[in-house]
Amino acid sequence: MRLEHDYNLREYNTFGINAKCNTFFEYSTDNELFDFIRQHRNDDDFKFFILGGGSNILFTKDFDGTIIHPCTKGRNIVYENGDNIFVEAQAGENWDEFVEWSITNKAYGLENLSYIPGTVGASAVQNIGAYGAEARQFIHRVKFLHLDSGDIQYMTNEACCFGYRESIFKHLLKGKAIILSVVYKLSKRPNINRSYADVEKFLTENNISNPTPADIRNAIIAIRRKKLPEVSETGSAGSFFKNPVVNTETFNALKEKFPEIKYFTAGNDYKLAAGWLIDQCGLKGFQHKGAAVHKNQALILINAGNATGNDVLELSDIVREKVFAKFEINLEPEAIII
Ligand SMILES: Cc1cc2nc3c(=O)[nH]c(=O)nc-3n(C[C@H](O)[C@H](O)[C@H](O)COP(=O)(O)OP(=O)(O)OC[C@H]3O[C@@H](n4cnc5c(N)ncnc54)[C@H](O)[C@@H]3O)c2cc1C
Repeated sequence: MRLEHDYNLREYNTFGINAKCNTFFEYSTDNELFDFIRQHRNDDDFKFFILGGGSNILFTKDFDGTIIHPCTKGRNIVYENGDNIFVEAQAGENWDEFVEWSITNKAYGLENLSYIPGTVGASAVQNIGAYGAEARQFIHRVKFLHLDSGDIQYMTNEACCFGYRESIFKHLLKGKAIILSVVYKLSKRPNINRSYADVEKFLTENNISNPTPADIRNAIIAIRRKKLPEVSETGSAGSFFKNPVVNTETFNALKEKFPEIKYFTAGNDYKLAAGWLIDQCGLKGFQHKGAAVHKNQALILINAGNATGNDVLELSDIVREKVFAKFEINLEPEAIII
């Protein structure tokens, strides 16, 4: 357990933004958390924010309250049933280490979600997704501390109300639940997902015709390393904006005006590639004060050197205005702005 005051969070957000909090509470066991919450939950001025790996956060000011930082570790196989294998990981586990561990333990399914920064707890909050897979396909149950009642509660997959980077933890339970652990329902039998063109290309180039889950993990890591900025080298929160979802009418009108528009179908709707929209506005590499649009991936805003949170926020406003002026599409931030 660690308790700090007037603490700088620069090392705790992947944008590398300088921001302070009044109190920083880091815990390694759930009991430490329960004691801390018991002591403070009835304080009139108790204001808190749960900060995992800080890889989807933009601090635009100091946080006038307590940062709660889970560092609980542990992963284990809880149950096996036919081809199904249920694995549980504590909220503070590093996500990618958990993915690697699951594959090593012959529990398959998460390989396409390899190399996403952050923690296991946040994987359920965010319903993380990449390369044709989403966490919600595999989450079985989420265990959390309900702050109103002080009870430990369990949430089934259905009750989590997962959507595109959405869950109940961002809405009804926002500020009311601290995730303690997540149980993932994985498979003993590999179910290879090579639906993404980049993955297929990597496999062909490397003469892998019958890939194992470990091959898919290696492919995803190689592709991501090539395409995305490394957290250790360049500050960012990954995709800064969500891909906007539009109905058929809007899509048809856009397609007529911009025949090259990049999109995916999403049920009856269409998900537009936000990176393409930004790129069409000529913004790749565009810099505003200390922040910039990544030169290869327009969807990623970066800390180009000593950016403040407001530099990034102002840049995101510029991007949103330009995209709206050209396409009449509103880009919504994926990153959580504080
Ligand atoms: C280079 C880069 C690439 C990325 N690529 C992807 C990608 O491909 N796909 C994708 O989906 N995301 C991606 N992201 C975004 C990010 O990795 C995910 O959103 C990740 O899940 C955030 O995890 P975190 O632990 O850092 O959460 P944080 O950023 O610290 O927090 C995110 C949210 O979860 C809440 N939270 C965290 N832990 C808990 C807990 N235990 N209980 C309750 N609430 C909690 C926080 O309060 C906050 O609301 C990328 C980010 C970077 C920097």
